[in-house]
Amino acid sequence: MGGRLVNAPRQFLNLIDGQARPAASGEWIDSIDPATGQVWAQVPAGGAADIDDAVAAARRAFRTWRRTPAMQRAALLRALAAAFAEWSQSLAEIETRDNGRILTETTAGDLPAVVQMLHYWAGAADKIHGETVDIGPASINYVQREPIGVIGMIVPWNAPLAIFVAKAGAALAAGNTIVVKPPESASCSILEAAALFEKAGFPPGVMNVVAGLGSVAGDALAGHPDVGKIAFTGSTATAGAITARTASAIKPLSFELGGKSANIVFADADLDLATVGVTTAAIYTGGAGQACIAGSRILVQRPVYEEMIERIGRAAAAIRLGDPMDRATQMGPIALEGQYGKVRSYLDIGLDEGAEMVLGGGSGAELFEPGSALGGGYFVQPTLFAGVRPDMRIYREEIFGPVACIVPFDDEEEAIGMANDSPYGLACGLWTNQLKRAHRVAAGVDVGAVWINTYRRIHWALPFGGMKQSGYGRDSGMESLRGYQHTKSVWVDLT
Ligand code: NAD
Repeated sequence: MGGRLVNAPRQFLNLIDGQARPAASGEWIDSIDPATGQVWAQVPAGGAADIDDAVAAARRAFRTWRRTPAMQRAALLRALAAAFAEWSQSLAEIETRDNGRILTETTAGDLPAVVQMLHYWAGAADKIHGETVDIGPASINYVQREPIGVIGMIVPWNAPLAIFVAKAGAALAAGNTIVVKPPESASCSILEAAALFEKAGFPPGVMNVVAGLGSVAGDALAGHPDVGKIAFTGSTATAGAITARTASAIKPLSFELGGKSANIVFADADLDLATVGVTTAAIYTGGAGQACIAGSRILVQRPVYEEMIERIGRAAAAIRLGDPMDRATQMGPIALEGQYGKVRSYLDIGLDEGAEMVLGGGSGAELFEPGSALGGGYFVQPTLFAGVRPDMRIYREEIFGPVACIVPFDDEEEAIGMANDSPYGLACGLWTNQLKRAHRVAAGVDVGAVWINTYRRIHWALPFGGMKQSGYGRDSGMESLRGYQHTKSVWVDLT
């Protein structure tokens, strides 16, 4: 008799039309625990056949879901929020195991936020209003907001569940159905959560998930003619590939992409607050700086530049790297081997470019006792480069790891110019005790989110997204609902 081997990797399944299924090909992708480099799970290697089935199911489900009374959609979203609340601990553990972001962040941050997002969208579902437009007595003209249809969602590995739910809540509230393609290196939390939609009472086919490679399942989803919109979070390069793939299909796209955000410290700031704000809050995070909004460019006014380097050094030295499942750990590993290699390559690039590594630079087994299981993990020390020129790659390119550049500036105008001297435009932090300066700088920076005397704050009620190479379209907030709706203008002749 067959049976599961003891310690065999746990296998997660796709959900298509209410059925938990392996990939049609029968193939699997190994999911690696980045803290040890060991395989801990397997996810289906879905392909075009699975995407076809999922899109067909979502299309069928759309016919009735779009006509489901709004209050019923709201009630289902509330039930889904309750199901996520009930299962939040195990979902947080799965995500931490899969992508290495520390358990304290996934349990205290992501999962409570996911539950609140679903309540928020439940509240929105029965408040979708059209409008009438007065163009004269000869007609009645009204505008309806209608769901688009099947939404294809493609998400990255740094916070897959929260990024997915931010999109899914809005899409479902608006009356759309979903096919989501999770990231191949961290699919497990979304695959596990799929069962909660069934548990909450969603009809089969309203939410489908197909795991697989981006170049296979992601490509098939983006190119599918029956997918009405692609809502994507990930790298700018992949957004380009999706744009090319959908060029002749003419479908709306929304892109939440990368960043190289400036975190600006003025000499008048509370430097204790600013030190936390430019280190553990911004770049030396529980997810090892793998955040699109990471404050990877620290701009410091010259009078406090040297002092801030010392302060950052002291703060970084106190950060405890280790097992992300351990609640004492403050920074976990890089989520996957390829990204680990990329981050380490930037350490060499920075040195080759002539920057000065004033902090960190260590990685891998050298950070742990010999024989530690963590020696096989993808850890990188908090690292800081000084002596950076604005043309250097480490200053311009998104590294997506715990690596920052620190650069001095003299005045406000120069700081704004430096913040905007980037192909990206996602976020900006600024630290000052001058009220007028704070608002002037906030108005001057070309980004989608500004934090004043705080950093990396995201809320389901606030629109989130970028400018320039950081993308277009917004997640969260009522504005994002519009991204999942068509408007229809109806003209009733009265003559
Ligand atoms: P990625 O672009 O490599 O992958 C993202 C998703 O796209 C994955 O699911 C992947 O399988 C899929 N994909 C890859 N190639 C594809 C293709 N040809 N067609 C369709 N889908 C494809 O990004 P990543 O490395 O997983 O994530 C890191 C990036 O995501 C960083 O640039 C980061 O800044 C960005 N990010 C942005 C936000 C935001 O909200 N702005 C949030 C988190 C991460």
